[in-house]
Amino acid sequence: AKRQRDGTPQLFRPELEQEREMRLTLERELRHAIDKGELSLYLQPQVDALQCIIGAEALVRWQHPVRGFISPSEFIPLAEESGLILPLGYWVLQEGCRLLGEWRQRPDCCDLKLSLNVSVRQFQQPDFVDQVLSAIYRHDVAPGRLTLELTESLLLKDPEGTIEKMGLLRRIGVSFALDDFGTGYSSLFYLKSLPLDTLKIDIAFVRGLSHDTQSTPIAAAIVALGRSLELAVIAEGVETEMQRAVLAGLGCFLYQGYLFGRPMPAADFPPILEPLAGE
Ligand code: C2E
Ligand code: CA
Ligand code: CA
Ligand code: CA
Repeated sequence: AKRQRDGTPQLFRPELEQEREMRLTLERELRHAIDKGELSLYLQPQVDALQCIIGAEALVRWQHPVRGFISPSEFIPLAEESGLILPLGYWVLQEGCRLLGEWRQRPDCCDLKLSLNVSVRQFQQPDFVDQVLSAIYRHDVAPGRLTLELTESLLLKDPEGTIEKMGLLRRIGVSFALDDFGTGYSSLFYLKSLPLDTLKIDIAFVRGLSHDTQSTPIAAAIVALGRSLELAVIAEGVETEMQRAVLAGLGCFLYQGYLFGRPMPAADFPPILEPLAGE
Protein backbone atom coordinates (compact mmCIF):
# COMPACT_ATOMS: atom_id res chain seq x y z
CA ALA A 1 0.00 0.00 0.00
CA LYS A 2 1.00 3.56 -0.58
CA ARG A 3 2.43 5.23 2.49
CA GLN A 4 2.49 8.82 3.54
CA ARG A 5 5.77 10.52 4.36
CA ASP A 6 5.46 9.70 8.07
CA GLY A 7 4.93 6.01 7.32
CA THR A 8 1.20 5.72 8.06
CA PRO A 9 -0.83 3.97 5.39
CA GLN A 10 -2.69 6.36 3.13
CA LEU A 11 -6.27 5.41 3.87
CA PHE A 12 -7.99 8.66 2.95
CA ARG A 13 -9.40 8.91 -0.47
CA PRO A 14 -10.06 12.48 -1.48
CA GLU A 15 -13.78 11.76 -1.94
CA LEU A 16 -14.10 10.45 1.60
CA GLU A 17 -12.30 13.46 2.95
CA GLN A 18 -14.58 15.71 0.93
CA GLU A 19 -17.65 13.96 2.25
CA ARG A 20 -16.45 14.33 5.82
CA GLU A 21 -15.87 18.00 5.29
CA MET A 22 -19.29 18.47 3.80
CA ARG A 23 -20.86 16.84 6.82
CA LEU A 24 -18.93 19.06 9.18
CA THR A 25 -19.97 22.14 7.24
CA LEU A 26 -23.58 21.05 7.22
CA GLU A 27 -23.39 20.43 10.95
CA ARG A 28 -21.96 23.88 11.59
CA GLU A 29 -24.65 25.44 9.43
CA LEU A 30 -27.44 23.51 11.08
CA ARG A 31 -26.22 24.86 14.40
CA HIS A 32 -26.98 28.38 13.15
CA ALA A 33 -30.07 27.51 11.11
CA ILE A 34 -32.37 27.69 14.11
CA ASP A 35 -31.26 31.14 15.24
CA LYS A 36 -31.25 32.46 11.71
CA GLY A 37 -34.85 31.37 11.20
CA GLU A 38 -34.06 28.96 8.37
CA LEU A 39 -36.23 26.19 9.78
CA SER A 40 -39.96 26.04 9.37
CA LEU A 41 -42.74 23.59 10.07
CA TYR A 42 -44.73 22.27 7.12
CA LEU A 43 -48.11 20.74 7.84
CA GLN A 44 -49.61 17.66 6.24
CA PRO A 45 -53.34 17.05 6.69
CA GLN A 46 -54.71 13.99 8.47
CA VAL A 47 -58.25 13.05 7.49
CA ASP A 48 -61.08 10.77 8.62
CA ALA A 49 -63.36 8.44 6.66
CA LEU A 50 -65.46 11.39 5.42
CA GLN A 51 -62.31 13.14 4.30
CA CYS A 52 -62.69 15.81 6.96
CA ILE A 53 -59.39 17.21 8.18
CA ILE A 54 -58.93 16.19 11.81
CA GLY A 55 -55.42 17.53 12.23
CA ALA A 56 -51.93 17.75 10.82
CA GLU A 57 -48.47 16.33 11.24
CA ALA A 58 -45.73 18.94 11.49
CA LEU A 59 -42.67 18.14 9.38
CA VAL A 60 -39.58 20.29 9.73
CA ARG A 61 -38.07 21.97 6.65
CA TRP A 62 -34.68 23.63 6.26
CA GLN A 63 -34.33 26.38 3.68
CA HIS A 64 -30.58 26.73 3.30
CA PRO A 65 -29.56 30.18 1.96
CA VAL A 66 -27.16 28.75 -0.62
CA ARG A 67 -28.08 25.14 -1.14
CA GLY A 68 -31.81 25.65 -1.07
CA PHE A 69 -34.15 23.19 0.48
CA ILE A 70 -32.55 20.34 2.46
CA SER A 71 -34.67 17.30 3.25
CA PRO A 72 -35.17 16.21 6.87
CA SER A 73 -34.13 12.68 5.94
CA GLU A 74 -30.72 14.25 5.29
CA PHE A 75 -30.33 16.51 8.32
CA ILE A 76 -32.33 14.74 11.04
CA PRO A 77 -29.88 11.79 11.16
CA LEU A 78 -27.01 14.30 11.23
CA ALA A 79 -28.74 16.21 14.01
CA GLU A 80 -29.17 13.02 16.01
CA GLU A 81 -25.52 12.05 15.71
CA SER A 82 -24.26 15.49 16.62
CA GLY A 83 -26.69 16.21 19.44
CA LEU A 84 -28.18 19.15 17.53
CA ILE A 85 -31.47 17.27 17.66
CA LEU A 86 -31.91 18.68 21.18
CA PRO A 87 -32.07 22.38 20.25
CA LEU A 88 -33.86 21.43 17.03
CA GLY A 89 -36.45 19.36 18.90
CA TYR A 90 -36.93 22.17 21.41
CA TRP A 91 -37.57 24.58 18.54
CA VAL A 92 -40.12 22.19 16.98
CA LEU A 93 -41.93 21.93 20.30
CA GLN A 94 -42.08 25.70 20.77
CA GLU A 95 -43.05 26.42 17.17
CA GLY A 96 -45.67 23.66 17.15
CA CYS A 97 -47.25 24.99 20.33
CA ARG A 98 -47.09 28.54 18.97
CA LEU A 99 -49.10 27.34 15.94
CA LEU A 100 -51.60 25.58 18.18
CA GLY A 101 -51.96 28.79 20.19
CA GLU A 102 -52.72 30.65 16.97
CA TRP A 103 -55.21 28.01 15.87
CA ARG A 104 -57.09 28.43 19.08
CA GLN A 105 -58.22 31.88 17.86
CA ARG A 106 -59.26 30.61 14.41
CA PRO A 107 -62.69 29.06 13.82
CA ASP A 108 -61.36 26.94 10.92
CA CYS A 109 -58.56 25.42 13.03
CA CYS A 110 -59.66 25.46 16.66
CA ASP A 111 -60.84 21.83 16.59
CA LEU A 112 -57.74 20.44 14.89
CA LYS A 113 -54.95 18.44 16.47
CA LEU A 114 -51.26 18.85 15.74
CA SER A 115 -48.75 15.98 15.80
CA LEU A 116 -45.09 16.66 16.48
CA ASN A 117 -42.23 14.23 15.88
CA VAL A 118 -40.07 13.63 18.93
CA SER A 119 -36.72 11.91 18.57
CA VAL A 120 -35.61 9.31 21.09
CA ARG A 121 -32.74 11.42 22.29
CA GLN A 122 -35.00 14.39 22.92
CA PHE A 123 -37.58 12.30 24.76
CA GLN A 124 -34.88 10.83 26.99
CA GLN A 125 -33.71 14.22 28.26
CA PRO A 126 -34.46 14.40 31.99
CA ASP A 127 -36.36 17.67 31.51
CA PHE A 128 -38.44 16.57 28.51
CA VAL A 129 -41.74 16.66 30.39
CA ASP A 130 -40.95 20.17 31.67
CA GLN A 131 -40.11 21.29 28.14
CA VAL A 132 -43.50 20.16 26.88
CA LEU A 133 -45.34 21.68 29.82
CA SER A 134 -43.61 25.03 29.47
CA ALA A 135 -44.31 25.16 25.71
CA ILE A 136 -47.97 24.37 26.39
CA TYR A 137 -48.34 27.05 29.08
CA ARG A 138 -46.33 29.64 27.23
CA HIS A 139 -48.56 29.47 24.16
CA ASP A 140 -51.76 28.81 26.04
CA VAL A 141 -52.43 25.51 24.25
CA ALA A 142 -55.20 23.09 25.17
CA PRO A 143 -53.08 19.95 25.83
CA GLY A 144 -55.73 17.77 24.18
CA ARG A 145 -54.80 19.34 20.83
CA LEU A 146 -51.22 18.11 21.02
CA THR A 147 -50.03 14.67 19.88
CA LEU A 148 -46.43 13.53 20.19
CA GLU A 149 -45.15 10.91 17.72
CA LEU A 150 -42.62 8.47 19.16
CA THR A 151 -40.87 5.49 17.60
CA GLU A 152 -40.50 1.96 18.85
CA SER A 153 -36.77 2.33 19.46
CA LEU A 154 -37.62 4.19 22.68
CA LEU A 155 -38.56 0.89 24.23
CA LEU A 156 -35.15 -0.65 23.68
CA LYS A 157 -33.40 1.51 26.22
CA ASP A 158 -35.64 2.46 29.07
CA PRO A 159 -39.19 1.13 28.87
CA GLU A 160 -40.10 2.02 32.46
CA GLY A 161 -38.87 5.60 32.16
CA THR A 162 -40.70 5.96 28.86
CA ILE A 163 -43.96 4.74 30.31
CA GLU A 164 -43.63 7.06 33.29
CA LYS A 165 -42.99 10.18 31.18
CA MET A 166 -45.81 9.36 28.81
CA GLY A 167 -48.11 8.83 31.78
CA LEU A 168 -47.26 12.26 33.23
CA LEU A 169 -48.01 14.04 29.96
CA ARG A 170 -51.09 12.00 29.23
CA ARG A 171 -52.56 12.90 32.59
CA ILE A 172 -52.79 16.52 31.45
CA GLY A 173 -54.27 15.50 28.11
CA VAL A 174 -51.37 15.14 25.66
CA SER A 175 -51.79 12.21 23.22
CA PHE A 176 -49.16 9.79 21.93
CA ALA A 177 -48.83 8.08 18.58
CA LEU A 178 -46.41 5.27 17.76
CA ASP A 179 -44.79 6.23 14.45
CA ASP A 180 -43.57 3.90 11.68
CA PHE A 181 -45.28 1.00 13.36
CA GLY A 182 -44.23 -2.42 12.12
CA THR A 183 -40.70 -1.44 11.12
CA GLY A 184 -39.09 -1.53 14.57
CA TYR A 185 -38.56 -3.98 17.33
CA SER A 186 -41.37 -3.47 19.77
CA SER A 187 -42.42 -6.53 21.62
CA LEU A 188 -46.13 -6.92 21.94
CA PHE A 189 -45.62 -7.12 25.67
CA TYR A 190 -44.32 -3.55 25.90
CA LEU A 191 -46.77 -2.34 23.33
CA LYS A 192 -49.57 -3.38 25.63
CA SER A 193 -48.06 -1.50 28.58
CA LEU A 194 -47.39 1.72 26.64
CA PRO A 195 -49.91 4.50 27.34
CA LEU A 196 -50.62 5.14 23.64
CA ASP A 197 -53.54 6.64 21.76
CA THR A 198 -52.65 5.92 18.15
CA LEU A 199 -50.69 3.52 15.94
CA LYS A 200 -49.35 4.83 12.65
CA ILE A 201 -49.05 2.19 9.93
CA ASP A 202 -45.72 2.75 8.24
CA ILE A 203 -45.63 3.98 4.67
CA ALA A 204 -43.74 0.82 3.66
CA PHE A 205 -46.85 -1.32 4.19
CA VAL A 206 -49.22 1.22 2.66
CA ARG A 207 -47.08 1.50 -0.45
CA GLY A 208 -47.43 -2.22 -1.09
CA LEU A 209 -51.17 -2.36 -0.64
CA SER A 210 -52.07 -2.13 -4.29
CA HIS A 211 -49.65 -4.73 -5.66
CA ASP A 212 -47.51 -6.68 -3.23
CA THR A 213 -49.46 -9.40 -1.48
CA GLN A 214 -47.26 -9.34 1.65
CA SER A 215 -48.35 -5.89 2.71
CA THR A 216 -52.08 -6.49 2.94
CA PRO A 217 -51.96 -9.15 5.70
CA ILE A 218 -49.44 -7.04 7.62
CA ALA A 219 -51.64 -3.97 7.43
CA ALA A 220 -54.62 -6.12 8.41
CA ALA A 221 -52.72 -7.43 11.44
CA ILE A 222 -51.75 -3.91 12.55
CA VAL A 223 -55.34 -2.70 12.26
CA ALA A 224 -56.56 -5.71 14.25
CA LEU A 225 -53.87 -5.19 16.88
CA GLY A 226 -54.77 -1.53 17.19
CA ARG A 227 -58.40 -2.37 17.62
CA SER A 228 -57.75 -5.00 20.29
CA LEU A 229 -55.58 -2.52 22.21
CA GLU A 230 -58.28 0.13 21.75
CA LEU A 231 -55.99 2.44 19.79
CA ALA A 232 -56.78 4.66 16.85
CA VAL A 233 -54.97 3.51 13.70
CA ILE A 234 -53.82 5.96 11.06
CA ALA A 235 -52.17 5.00 7.78
CA GLU A 236 -49.38 7.22 6.49
CA GLY A 237 -48.24 7.62 2.91
CA VAL A 238 -51.65 7.03 1.31
CA GLU A 239 -51.19 8.06 -2.30
CA THR A 240 -53.98 6.34 -4.23
CA GLU A 241 -57.70 5.89 -3.91
CA MET A 242 -57.09 2.14 -4.20
CA GLN A 243 -54.84 2.14 -1.14
CA ARG A 244 -57.44 4.12 0.79
CA ALA A 245 -60.17 1.69 -0.22
CA VAL A 246 -58.10 -1.36 0.82
CA LEU A 247 -57.35 0.29 4.17
CA ALA A 248 -61.02 1.10 4.71
CA GLY A 249 -61.83 -2.52 3.94
CA LEU A 250 -59.41 -3.57 6.68
CA GLY A 251 -61.11 -1.19 9.15
CA CYS A 252 -58.61 1.67 9.03
CA PHE A 253 -60.44 4.99 8.72
CA LEU A 254 -57.76 7.61 9.39
CA TYR A 255 -55.34 8.62 6.66
CA GLN A 256 -52.40 10.83 5.85
CA GLY A 257 -50.69 11.05 2.48
CA TYR A 258 -50.34 12.81 -0.85
CA LEU A 259 -53.86 11.67 -1.84
CA PHE A 260 -55.18 14.22 0.66
CA GLY A 261 -52.40 16.75 0.65
CA ARG A 262 -48.65 17.20 0.65
CA PRO A 263 -46.87 18.88 3.54
CA MET A 264 -47.48 22.64 3.09
CA PRO A 265 -46.45 25.91 4.73
CA ALA A 266 -48.46 26.59 7.88
CA ALA A 267 -49.88 29.73 6.23
CA ASP A 268 -51.64 27.55 3.61
CA PHE A 269 -53.22 25.26 6.18
CA PRO A 270 -55.93 23.98 6.25
CA PRO A 271 -56.35 23.27 2.55
CA ILE A 272 -59.79 22.89 1.00
CA LEU A 273 -60.04 19.26 -0.07
CA GLU A 274 -61.91 18.02 -3.13
CA PRO A 275 -64.97 15.97 -2.23
CA LEU A 276 -64.59 12.18 -2.29
CA ALA A 277 -64.68 10.69 -5.74
CA GLY A 278 -68.04 9.23 -6.67
CA GLU A 279 -70.06 11.05 -4.01
P1 C2E B 1 -42.07 10.49 9.27
O1 C2E B 1 -42.32 11.00 10.63
O2 C2E B 1 -42.39 9.05 9.01
O3 C2E B 1 -42.89 11.45 8.31
C1 C2E B 1 -43.58 11.03 7.16
C2 C2E B 1 -42.76 11.29 5.92
O4 C2E B 1 -43.47 10.76 4.79
C3 C2E B 1 -42.57 12.79 5.64
O5 C2E B 1 -41.31 12.94 5.02
C4 C2E B 1 -43.70 13.06 4.65
O6 C2E B 1 -43.47 14.19 3.84
C5 C2E B 1 -43.69 11.78 3.85
N1 C2E B 1 -44.97 11.51 3.21
C6 C2E B 1 -46.21 11.86 3.63
N2 C2E B 1 -47.16 11.41 2.80
C7 C2E B 1 -46.52 10.76 1.81
C8 C2E B 1 -46.98 10.06 0.63
O7 C2E B 1 -48.17 9.95 0.34
N3 C2E B 1 -46.01 9.48 -0.15
C9 C2E B 1 -44.68 9.56 0.14
N4 C2E B 1 -43.82 8.97 -0.69
N5 C2E B 1 -44.23 10.21 1.24
C10 C2E B 1 -45.14 10.80 2.06
P2 C2E B 1 -40.34 14.13 5.42
O8 C2E B 1 -41.14 15.38 5.66
O9 C2E B 1 -39.26 14.17 4.38
O10 C2E B 1 -39.74 13.68 6.81
C11 C2E B 1 -38.89 12.55 6.87
C12 C2E B 1 -38.65 12.13 8.29
O11 C2E B 1 -37.89 13.12 8.98
C13 C2E B 1 -39.94 11.96 9.11
O12 C2E B 1 -40.53 10.72 8.83
C14 C2E B 1 -39.36 12.05 10.51
O13 C2E B 1 -38.81 10.83 10.90
C15 C2E B 1 -38.24 13.06 10.34
N6 C2E B 1 -38.74 14.38 10.79
C16 C2E B 1 -39.44 15.31 10.10
N7 C2E B 1 -39.71 16.37 10.88
C17 C2E B 1 -39.20 16.09 12.11
C18 C2E B 1 -39.17 16.79 13.36
O14 C2E B 1 -39.73 17.90 13.52
N8 C2E B 1 -38.53 16.18 14.40
C19 C2E B 1 -37.95 14.96 14.26
N9 C2E B 1 -37.32 14.42 15.33
N10 C2E B 1 -37.96 14.27 13.11
C20 C2E B 1 -38.59 14.83 12.05
CA1 CA C 1 -44.00 11.05 12.02
CA1 CA D 1 -44.01 7.84 10.05
CA1 CA E 1 -41.06 7.07 8.35
